[in-house]
Amino acid sequence: MSAPARPKKHFGQHFLHEKRYVERIVAAVAPRAEDAVVEIGPGEGALTLPLLAAAGRLTAIELDDELIPALQARAAAVGRLEVIRADVLTVDFAALARRLGVPRLRLAGNLPYYISSPILFHCLAHADVIADMHFMLQKEVVERMAAAPGSKIYGRLSVMLQLACTVVPLFDVPPGAFRPPPKVDSAVVRLTPLPAEARHRADPARVHAIVKAAFAQRRKTLANTLKGVLDANAIERAGIDPKARAETLDPEDFVRLAQVD
Ligand code: SAM
Repeated sequence: MSAPARPKKHFGQHFLHEKRYVERIVAAVAPRAEDAVVEIGPGEGALTLPLLAAAGRLTAIELDDELIPALQARAAAVGRLEVIRADVLTVDFAALARRLGVPRLRLAGNLPYYISSPILFHCLAHADVIADMHFMLQKEVVERMAAAPGSKIYGRLSVMLQLACTVVPLFDVPPGAFRPPPKVDSAVVRLTPLPAEARHRADPARVHAIVKAAFAQRRKTLANTLKGVLDANAIERAGIDPKARAETLDPEDFVRLAQVD
């Protein structure tokens, strides 16, 4: 067997080596033979091979082409692995689902932390073709995703994720489980997109613009932060006090703000 690759910092490479966490992730995903599982960032295959063993086929998206030949060689005996050499942010999941002949994909991955938010927003934009997502992220990001109104860490990520998915933090993973260890704690989260009717009640671009403006200066009132987007009358017509601050609004309030004429 060839020597393990030297992990590349600029690709956010921290390879999971503790088997018990691999097992817990695979048990959480619980892939079935009929699933189209897509792994983001397979790296050396810590999750790929066990997921592939359970699913029988798997599509993996990896940016670092140096890792791909060894991964393919190791997978050959396990099942059908397709590796797409690409930046995941350029992958059209709707086209991928069509090509794989399924209505929805199941995504999984120990994400590269340097672009975890862009990846999450890219996945949200494709929520119609995603059945669920199991992601390893920085623990602090998982906490922000699941945060409730009133909490200091409740913000843009919490609102946008909770309007699109159920967010279930599953378990924490310490730095020592990776090679090399990251500087931060990690956690695994399950995201399940809500039914389309629940996600399409307001124009997503409008919701995003309002949420972004409202949290840009979180100590200021909505009348102030939303000035360029909505006037105080419109905020009132949505049934919301213009003197309130973004951090006190629940995700549904942002939908109402986006729906008001
Ligand atoms: N899944 C492996 C594991 O658990 O050991 C590796 C996880 S490592 C944290 C992140 C992986 O994502 C690396 O293999 C890295 O090369 C890959 N990666 C980084 N940026 C990427 C991108 N934009 N698109 C696809 N893969 C990327």
